[in-house]
Amino acid sequence: MKRGSPAPPAPRPAWRGGWLQAARRIDSPNFGPRPAGVEIDLVIVHSISLPPGEYGGDAIERLFTNRLDFGAHPYYERLRGLEVSAHFVIRRDGVLLQFVSCAKRAWHAGASTWNGRSGCNDFSVGIELEGLEGGTFEAAQYERLATTVKALAERYPIRAVAGHEHVAPGRKRDPGPGFDWPLLRQTAGLRGVDFAA
Ligand SMILES: [Zn+2]
Repeated sequence: MKRGSPAPPAPRPAWRGGWLQAARRIDSPNFGPRPAGVEIDLVIVHSISLPPGEYGGDAIERLFTNRLDFGAHPYYERLRGLEVSAHFVIRRDGVLLQFVSCAKRAWHAGASTWNGRSGCNDFSVGIELEGLEGGTFEAAQYERLATTVKALAERYPIRAVAGHEHVAPGRKRDPGPGFDWPLLRQTAGLRGVDFAA
């Protein structure tokens, strides 16, 4: 008698609550509740490196978990006491880290406005690319960013992807002119989502 083949394993869910399962989770204490009834419809792209232009260390994780040794580098002095976070960080090699559940409000955009709505942290997901504002980014980062935006658009009513420079013009310049918006739009291939429009 031929035995039936075992049932295929159930596909691993992409999300568990507001946590994307493809990401390595590192919990940040820097978050709060989103306002009741808010729709998460915006993705904000940032760039960060600590110290600026140096890649691969653990200073970003330390900053977002309030464990950065502010005395370890002269640049860090200006960050002393700062409590910030983003939902995601994408390293230069495309590795994805998640610090805050997307169901929660992370602290990445600061004073900001999008389509006449202020306080973008309320209704956005923040993604930091390890990089230098004005510099270029790696192919692996575009790939990972595109798949992350697609996963977000499957779970939330995402309508636009914008840079920090677009929601806080004059105050913020990341990710800057070295970021290739047409490449992201093409790689993500999402209809109905505006990219830095
Ligand atoms: Zn930023």
